[in-house]
Amino acid sequence: MASKEQLKKVAYRCSQHKFANNASMTSSIGTLGQIEKSCENCVHFTSDHKCDINLTDEILTNMAMELDYKEIDWH
Ligand code: SF4
Repeated sequence: MASKEQLKKVAYRCSQHKFANNASMTSSIGTLGQIEKSCENCVHFTSDHKCDINLTDEILTNMAMELDYKEIDWH
C-alpha cells in the first residue's frame, strides 16, 4: 500500500482530487493554513484505502517512470 507521503504526491498530480466533507478533520494543515491535498482526504478514497476510480496506482506508476527517467545517467 502507498505511504502517506505517496498519497499526498499522488493527490497533487491527480485531476480528480476533491476534498471529502470531513477533510479538515482528517488532514494535515500546510504552512499557509490550507489543507494539504492527499488521497486520504479525497471523496474517491474508500474506507479500505483504495481509489474508487483506480487512479492511485496509475499515478504512482507514472511517478515511478519519471524517476527512472531522471535517474538515467546520460554522460
Ligand atoms: S483518491 Fe483517487 S481521485 Fe482521489 S486524489 Fe487519490 S488518485 Fe486522485
